[in-house]
Amino acid sequence: MADNQNANKNPDKNGFYGEYGGAYVPEMLYPNVKELQERYREIISSQDFRQEYTGLLNHYSGRPTPLYYASRLSEKYNTKIYLKREDLNHTGAHKINNAIGQMLVAKHLGKTKIIAETGAGQHGVATATVCAMAGLECTVYMGATDIKRQAPNVARMKMLGAKVIAATSGNQTLKDATNEAIRAWINSPEDTYYLIGSVVGPHPYPDMVARLQAIISAEIRIQVQQRHSSEFPTRIIACVGGGSNAAGAFYHFIDHKATELIAVEAAGLGTETAETAASLHVGKMGIIHGFKTYLMQTEDGQITEPYSISAGLDYPGIGPMFADLFDKNRITCLAVTDNEAMEAGLELARLEGIIPAIESAHALAALTKIDFKPDEMTVLNLSGRGDKDLDTYSNYLDKSN
Ligand SMILES: *Cc1c(COP(=O)(O)O)cnc(C)c1O
Repeated sequence: MADNQNANKNPDKNGFYGEYGGAYVPEMLYPNVKELQERYREIISSQDFRQEYTGLLNHYSGRPTPLYYASRLSEKYNTKIYLKREDLNHTGAHKINNAIGQMLVAKHLGKTKIIAETGAGQHGVATATVCAMAGLECTVYMGATDIKRQAPNVARMKMLGAKVIAATSGNQTLKDATNEAIRAWINSPEDTYYLIGSVVGPHPYPDMVARLQAIISAEIRIQVQQRHSSEFPTRIIACVGGGSNAAGAFYHFIDHKATELIAVEAAGLGTETAETAASLHVGKMGIIHGFKTYLMQTEDGQITEPYSISAGLDYPGIGPMFADLFDKNRITCLAVTDNEAMEAGLELARLEGIIPAIESAHALAALTKIDFKPDEMTVLNLSGRGDKDLDTYSNYLDKSN
């Protein structure tokens, strides 16, 4: 297709993917962001870094993660479905790939303190984990509402030695925690590294996080080739909150149009309602947390509060790479409601003996919306495991019985 010819997985030198991205930061943060912009490529491609990063991914997190042929799921949809098992990573999701990488970047930059934002607490736990392992001081900002909703993850972070600070502005969720983390960074820029949890934020974070998650698609290509006539599956499906697991699963396929890329947003109660988090479906261009993207906002530009049953998808924006890939028709974007996701999560548990994170269940629900042919090969990125979501699953089961 002519109009996706220049769909790009890499931003220009100012961090723009087409019209999206960039680095809109306050003057106080400029030196920090500039330092990172100038050094991240050289650091993450250095041999030292590659060795430490690969070593930790393999021996600490348990990579490569399997590509599992889900035979009963495949039978149900009369096609071939493979699950990329990011749920088997240490701490239960893909987030550790990025946390390990950025922890090493922070060390290469000589930083001694790490700060992070977290919504559901998964990124906070991954960050607290790698900081404990590397002996770095860790502070995690989390919305007061989320601290109450996600008590087990708060306990984990504390046990790992991190300080958890409540953000008490706005809805007291992820957006507010991010504002708080940025404020803290402004106050102690010299020794502090801000470890962002997705392909969002000012340049170079979206590109850096995408490169650190790209290990997922590097493995998929090898694993697909071992079972298929080529290294290119028919399609890859992933859920998108900020977009880091999707960026990782798509990365090495973006330039190969033979593979269809399907991004699944959280519709919440429906994209036609106000209770949604489907930024590509309902957002308009705006700026949040230092970058330009599709953003959920009111007529006069106030950011609206997102809603999804899944705390990990509950963000009013989306990574700039996806905004651009969407405009250029390189990705197909679907939206899945809370109930569709819950049903898909229960289905996977019963068909395959795998309890998925509710985020990942959104990707699974997309299976009901696709016309499959029997010999097509679909790879679904199972971004995380559902242990953290047991309460939500059992409440749902109680209600539907
Ligand atoms: C955080 C999270 C997500 C959403 O974040 P992305 O950056 O869009 O990947 C998805 N799945 C799981 C399991 C998560 O923990």
